[in-house]
Amino acid sequence: MDDPFKHVRRRSRQNIDALSRAVRVIFGLGDDDRVALIPLLEFGIDAILDDFQLEILPDAELQGYEGLTDLTRPIIRLPEQVYNRLRNSCTHARFTAAHELGHLFMHSGDSVHYARTKQADETTDPEWQANQFAACFLMPEAGFRKCATVEEAMVKFGVGYRAANARAKSLGHKFRRLPKKRGHGMSRTP
Ligand SMILES: [Zn+2]
Repeated sequence: MDDPFKHVRRRSRQNIDALSRAVRVIFGLGDDDRVALIPLLEFGIDAILDDFQLEILPDAELQGYEGLTDLTRPIIRLPEQVYNRLRNSCTHARFTAAHELGHLFMHSGDSVHYARTKQADETTDPEWQANQFAACFLMPEAGFRKCATVEEAMVKFGVGYRAANARAKSLGHKFRRLPKKRGHGMSRTP
């Protein structure tokens, strides 16, 4: 089926990366800073986007969606369960919230251009775009490249193992493997 809602204006990886960096600058986030998503969603977006609303809804009302961004008004809706996980710094919930921010900045309001196109690929897929935004927004390149190990990146930016590895792959960044822990009796006490 040809779904007119499936495609949006084409955006390259570089375009999305640049947008995510601009949003980080607006919020005063340095390259090494971890995004504090709860304050950002509750107070930060509101300061730059008139009428922005964050709505926390009972899980059943969102019918299995982890998050939903209104395409006509600046509203992000999160189910209670995801919001609670976000408060506990769950990395999956953090990625979900950042993904919804991607929809908010790229697909909500006047900037929406639905396109029927025969040459659709991932760069016109709103879900791909939102995932790219989340990765770039949470893990800015300059700060990410300073991470020697995947564990360091995960702690620094509050992301999961898969997200950190995917970001490393897309940036061509090589992590160092942690040396295997030595067994008992091998450690020397000075
Ligand atoms: Zn989405």
